[in-house]
Amino acid sequence: MAKDFIRKIIDNDLAAGKVTQIVTRFPPEPNGFLHVGHAKAIVANFEIAREYGGKCYLRFDDTNPEKEEQLYAEAIKRDVQWLGYRWQAITHTSDYFEELYRDACRLIELDKAYVCELTAADIRAYRGTLTSPGRNSPYRDRPSTESLRLFQEMRAGKHDEGRMVLRAKIDMASPNISMRDPTIYRVKKLSHPRTGDQWCIYPLYDFSHCLADASEQISHSLCTLEFQDNRALYDWFVQALRPAPHPQQIEFARLTLSYTVTSKRRLDSLIKTGKVKGWDDPRLPTISGLRRRGFPAVAVKNFCQRIGLSKKETIIDFAILEDEVRNSLNESAPRTMAVLRPLKVTIKNFTNDQPLALEVPIHPQDATRGTRTVHFSNTIFIERDDFLVDPPKKFFRLKPQGRVRLRYAFVITCEEVVRADDGTITELICTYDPDTAKGKTPSDGKKVKGIIHWLSQQDSQPAKVYLYDRLLRSESWDQDDESPLNPQSLEIIDHALVSKGIAPEVCYQFERLGYFCLDKDSTTTEIVINRITSLRDTWAKIIKNS
Ligand code: ATP
Ligand code: MG
Repeated sequence: MAKDFIRKIIDNDLAAGKVTQIVTRFPPEPNGFLHVGHAKAIVANFEIAREYGGKCYLRFDDTNPEKEEQLYAEAIKRDVQWLGYRWQAITHTSDYFEELYRDACRLIELDKAYVCELTAADIRAYRGTLTSPGRNSPYRDRPSTESLRLFQEMRAGKHDEGRMVLRAKIDMASPNISMRDPTIYRVKKLSHPRTGDQWCIYPLYDFSHCLADASEQISHSLCTLEFQDNRALYDWFVQALRPAPHPQQIEFARLTLSYTVTSKRRLDSLIKTGKVKGWDDPRLPTISGLRRRGFPAVAVKNFCQRIGLSKKETIIDFAILEDEVRNSLNESAPRTMAVLRPLKVTIKNFTNDQPLALEVPIHPQDATRGTRTVHFSNTIFIERDDFLVDPPKKFFRLKPQGRVRLRYAFVITCEEVVRADDGTITELICTYDPDTAKGKTPSDGKKVKGIIHWLSQQDSQPAKVYLYDRLLRSESWDQDDESPLNPQSLEIIDHALVSKGIAPEVCYQFERLGYFCLDKDSTTTEIVINRITSLRDTWAKIIKNS
């Protein structure tokens, strides 16, 4: 596969001797759970480090004490590990607070920063716009000694929030608004989860991120395209404060998936308003949601590598992620059977005392995986949809007086339809042909086209099954849509039957139905099953047929 633009830059930097070791980092803010967009960044950083024999840090970008919680940090670690990555070390931007404070003091001494007492609104008004330059703050030219004293007082807690901030002194006329004297420190009288009440001033991202990168000797600092304009600022701080070699910021396009939400803020709002069950709701593209739903880590990883890294913003179809899930599960998933909407079938000519044991393959394409035993008896269940009283022409499943093959078992004939008083079909009375085992054609020589799945009473247990579909009704979140969720995003089937012995942490293929796994809501008395994905992309079929 051709190398992406980031790997090409790295190759060139190594060849030119600009860097000797590749060091990357994944720097989440611990203010929410990770989603599949973050998976793209994780895979990029960790895979690049691995391929080049370098290292990758997991850095918690914890400079904003208002929003961060330990719970999120734990979830982030779990998600990165689940994807199969091991960090060189865990670091925190807060580890560098003392160093960053000294950096800020140095910047003041170098006359490259000043304490500004404009209000937040005035700072904004003075900043100018894309088409007009900004204006210098009246505090811009105050002596460094005065700024230094005020900054020390800010740290000592002598000034209230919003009274003054520390700003870099760059260029209020720069065409790049990021360079118009950005704020680098502000007063926040809040306790921090790691540093407690040690600090009442906190650095801003543009200042702390690049310097933390430099301290960790990050060679290539990968981030998403919205930071493109901040790169000049990144370089400005690093050049002003750190000896070479300098980390290099490279931006790539963020992942946007169709029909779902990849923004922590929106995910948070869906959770807070109770529209979904929590961060790990299997409908969500959070890593914890995908994991709970049964998406294999390797499929998520393969997906990230398949979409690759570029500078082009595109919307990736959710179906591509599902396709990777199918590719992976088709190979790995053991086969078994379940009946989502059971219809009882009585086999009236099965008169053995004991059910008949049949050996069936665990994986039809891989004999080395061995067999499992299923039982055939006088009471079995088939899918309600697989029987029609008055079927259309090409219906090859069961109909009155018709025949169908039970997967891995016998051909049965429908002799009689039993109905309740209200007319609903409650049972089929059938006969089976004992000479049709192992795919044998019935003695009349007529081939039986349809094969359906089934479960015997002995082998089945009741279960609740959750079927998932696209989260959103439209490709992207429509701001004005009051109910953007797809009403079919979750369908609950209360009375399904699944094979006995469904184990936790295993993804199964329920033959003809799709891929399924046990949900963590299962108890000893109630089995809850998630549909990971169907066997085929049903949306593609709908589009083709319409
Ligand atoms: P969100 O917009 O969902 O809040 P964020 O960018 O604020 O995400 P961070 O915790 O700051 O989340 O992100 C950590 C890293 O993950 C950053 O380097 C960021 O660029 C990257 N990242 C976040 N979202 C995506 C995405 N959709 N595609 C690729 N990378 C992403
Ligand atoms: Mg962020």
